[in-house]
Amino acid sequence: MSSDPTHASSSSPESVAKDGECGSIQIRNPSRASGTLSYIARTLVEAGLTGPRGSGNLSLIMTDDRLMITPRGISLELVAGLKMIMPVVELGTEHKDGDASSELLTHLAVYASRQDANFVAHVHSPHATTASCMARTGDLPRFHYYQAVLGDYGTPVLPFYMPGSAELAQRVGALLSYYDHDTVHALLLANHGALVWAHDLHRLTKRIQVLEDICRIYVQSGGWPNEITAVGLSTIRHEVFDGA
Ligand SMILES: [Zn+2]
Repeated sequence: MSSDPTHASSSSPESVAKDGECGSIQIRNPSRASGTLSYIARTLVEAGLTGPRGSGNLSLIMTDDRLMITPRGISLELVAGLKMIMPVVELGTEHKDGDASSELLTHLAVYASRQDANFVAHVHSPHATTASCMARTGDLPRFHYYQAVLGDYGTPVLPFYMPGSAELAQRVGALLSYYDHDTVHALLLANHGALVWAHDLHRLTKRIQVLEDICRIYVQSGGWPNEITAVGLSTIRHEVFDGA
């Protein structure tokens, strides 16, 4: 990996994506980490996966004790073209209001509950957000085999808590601790949006897109799709997606 601090801002999307895919997960270079967050934002913006005015936030693990997160009050549309170092947060310390995204505590809750997660995205993508306003608290029903990409259950739906609050973060952590490791890769936050995490960049963007597609079907069915009852998503995940 290049140690050129200017490398990130001039990286092609392919070179950034390759980092995520090949597993060089800890991105120590701050410029490169910022470039990777910009790349993810650009991918989401171009795919129409951000919310009104580009709302949402992203983070990644830099080292065992540091993460980088998109800045507070900056849309993902702006993050997509950002050429500055984004906020770096020391893990294990007290976090007060600063430059970091207002959803920092929720990102931290995911990392604390999912040790292999290196990327977290909170998005207000159109159909996931609409589904979050329609779905009953609990799980989305299981109605399409591609839901196996998101875990072994229908995507959990967390009740509404104040965006950016410590309570939201605590509830996210509590919900994730309820599920076995590696069986849930996304949540819907009721009346709010979605939360997705992954070990690598490729899985992160794929899961965000799949969640949006699943939620589009859910919305277009009026919230009453025919459910899959004969086969569990875990079986589908292993037999169709090779356990990925
Ligand atoms: Zn939000």
